Amino acid sequence: MNYKDKFPILNNSKKLIYLDSASTSQKPKSVIKVMKDFYERENANIHRGVYKLSQKATEKYDKAREEIAKFINAETNEIIFTYGTTDGINKLSRVLPLLFKNKDEIVLSQMEHHSNLVPWQEAARKNNMKLKFIPINKDYKLDYVHAEKIINKKTAIVSITHISNALGILNDIEKIISIAKKHGAIVIIDAAQSIPHIKLNVKKLNCDFLVFSGHKVYGPLGIGVLYGKKQLLDKITPFNFGGDMISKVSLEKTEFAEIPRKFEGGTQNISGVVGLAEAIKFIQKIGINKIERYEKKLVKYTLNKLREMKDINIYSNENNSSIISFNFNGVHSHDVASILDDYNICVRAGHHCCMPLMNKLGVAGTVRISLGIYNTKEDIDKLIQGLNKVSEIFRK
Ligand code: PMP
Repeated sequence: MNYKDKFPILNNSKKLIYLDSASTSQKPKSVIKVMKDFYERENANIHRGVYKLSQKATEKYDKAREEIAKFINAETNEIIFTYGTTDGINKLSRVLPLLFKNKDEIVLSQMEHHSNLVPWQEAARKNNMKLKFIPINKDYKLDYVHAEKIINKKTAIVSITHISNALGILNDIEKIISIAKKHGAIVIIDAAQSIPHIKLNVKKLNCDFLVFSGHKVYGPLGIGVLYGKKQLLDKITPFNFGGDMISKVSLEKTEFAEIPRKFEGGTQNISGVVGLAEAIKFIQKIGINKIERYEKKLVKYTLNKLREMKDINIYSNENNSSIISFNFNGVHSHDVASILDDYNICVRAGHHCCMPLMNKLGVAGTVRISLGIYNTKEDIDKLIQGLNKVSEIFRK
């Protein structure tokens, strides 16, 4: 499996070893082309024009929603476009607490990205609610026994990451969802790191909301998806008030449009939506199950190679999906990343927007490699060569 050819940036810089897809993925030619074509041939605002160009743009936008919905097995009107994962969670954190009178606890985990923590800190402060955290065990798995204890009848919302962006651990969200459902809590899945790597089926999962960013799934920047169950979307208030989300407006009051439009106030990122649908098409052409199998093998290959190195601490278990985090004893993660950069190897270093998790691990940061469909065993071999250089420099 070698998809490097499909990605212009990797063709334009043949030496580039890109191992930072968890930050943002590279974009396939087809996605770039469809967005270029949109601006060159189809650009017009949606929903507003009676003229053909606007109607065509509207059709494209609506069709994209349909395709994205199918990809995660949602209904078309359960898909709301956002700017990304952070935006989706922020929006939910503003409106969901208003649904609860007799429940005042929000449950998160110790491994959440700041985007799935800070908005809830704000929500808790403003709505007089409490935050509770599912801890992680020594093997970096969530402590599901503890989860059973802290998710109870007081729990209003459980918001949890599917795959840890810092460690790559795949969480048993089915288990968390089933515990939450027993107590009537609303469950949000942060799928930012899982959407490009594993098959997601929102109906089967039975989560209430699921959020992800287009740019991590081979799509453009500035577009994201918020999935919500229809019954809940009908219930919650809009989060962006203004043009395009109304059915009737007088000077005194407004009747809102039906879902999903009631949540999409203002001019939308139309080219972003078109690009995201193309990215989904790109994934579907290869097959998400095939991607998962391929990346699993590559993770195993990487872990085996890393485990052969000396003085390395790898924060992994058998559930690593597409991301591996590690540290060389006594070497700052930034030093590792900057030496690797000398060999055109892009890895991330630092706290990965997970400061509480780093505190728990007792480190300032880690070196993180994250894989995409374009990565190969050769990339990993080059990474290992680079890491051997790091070792040489620091072990002299
Ligand atoms: N959650 C997780 C698990 C993430 O990995 C990220 C991005 N690193 C985010 C949320 C935030 O995504 P975005 O910056 O695209 O809004």
